[in-house]
Amino acid sequence: MSTFKAPKGTYDLTPPDSAIYLAVREAIAAPLKRSGYGYIETPGFEQVELFSRGVGESTDIVSKEMYTLTTRGGDELALRPEGTASVLRAALEANLHKAGNLPVKLWYSGSYYRYERPQAGRYRHFSQVGAEAIGAEDPALDAELIILAVDAYKSLGLSDFRLLLNSLGDKECRPAYREALQGFLRGLDLDEDTRRRIEINPLRVLDDKREAVQKQLVGAPMLRDHLCEACKAYHEEVRALLTAAGVDFVDDEKLVRGLDYYTRTTFEFVHGGLGSQSAVGGGGRYDGLSEMIGGPALPSVGWALGVDRTVLALKAEGIELDLPAATQVYAVPLGEEARKTLFGLVTELRRAGVATDFAFGGKGLKNAMKSANRSGARFALVAGERDLAEGVVQLKDLESGEQTAVAFDAVVSELLARQG
Ligand code: ATP
Ligand code: MG
Repeated sequence: MSTFKAPKGTYDLTPPDSAIYLAVREAIAAPLKRSGYGYIETPGFEQVELFSRGVGESTDIVSKEMYTLTTRGGDELALRPEGTASVLRAALEANLHKAGNLPVKLWYSGSYYRYERPQAGRYRHFSQVGAEAIGAEDPALDAELIILAVDAYKSLGLSDFRLLLNSLGDKECRPAYREALQGFLRGLDLDEDTRRRIEINPLRVLDDKREAVQKQLVGAPMLRDHLCEACKAYHEEVRALLTAAGVDFVDDEKLVRGLDYYTRTTFEFVHGGLGSQSAVGGGGRYDGLSEMIGGPALPSVGWALGVDRTVLALKAEGIELDLPAATQVYAVPLGEEARKTLFGLVTELRRAGVATDFAFGGKGLKNAMKSANRSGARFALVAGERDLAEGVVQLKDLESGEQTAVAFDAVVSELLARQG
């Protein structure tokens, strides 16, 4: 072991488990790629102000969880704590919204950073795959994104997850509700921090995890009863489209999410096997965000799914992904001449698309065969001087133990045929 360890709250992805993470990212991205979402990548850091404006000063993310730094040049930067503000910033900067094709649909995959109290499922460096549809107000777009997330989870074999759904209203109806809620909350017996929250972000109080607080919230005015007609109709249509697509959901009138810029549709996916870090993904509509960061009005909707927690969810459900073997063929040379010849064959096989590895480092036969077995390869190719003289290599099926001599120039076609 080296003197150094991964920083607190972080962990490394190493083989063989790292293959699961890659597969999860790919599985989440696949439904997006076939639905018109284009790939976007943004920097790992941005100006602090993008997040303080775009995520909101009053959120935990900005007030407690951001990694900020001052560069040698004096710029105030933050490691990105989430993806939406950056993606919208990049779309505006590239004028994607002016290309005449709204909504602009984008997907991303990357690392995010939050200074959190580390625990199972909660890390300081974590990974998300996300999607944003920018510049359209259409219940079908909200439904599309939710359906794509559900399809991603299902394609991984997950079933113990639930979709929580709510509407947060819009600039027509939310202000009046906010005031009604504040009026109610000010009359409760709450601690200093929570009282402050009533004034800056009262909806968040509904989301308080403490039972003593939840008890007092019985009878609080609910947004559902304050939605304007347009918001109500919009939400009904999202619900109807989900139902038509066979997507189950639970109406959760207390679901408010941590970010200030959410409007109307808001949702979260929770998994039953993850204990208190149960949110595997979440998202919603953010019609006000673009203007908040200096852009034009661009009603938009998006989500981000946590890769780390999705992997934990797979483990909780006992799901083993059907991953292709990293190595299909393992070549074992016996002697110096065979090394050169077999190495050439390894290159040929790889170029033909067969995942092949080689016994490097001049191991003896016994050791090399152990490595072949450990590699997960189905076949070993073994050749010594006598084989070379006869122009063959021994092809051994590591499952059945059966061994056949194959002519040198037939090896590639034979293995392509055998891998079917
Ligand atoms: P939580 O309520 O658990 O803190 P959140 O509301 O902060 O979640 P979002 O900002 O909506 O989470 O991020 C989307 C997803 O990213 C979450 O559902 C979760 O799966 C994942 N995620 C968020 N923070 C972390 C973290 N610190 N470690 C691992 N995954 C995370
Ligand atoms: Mg959080």
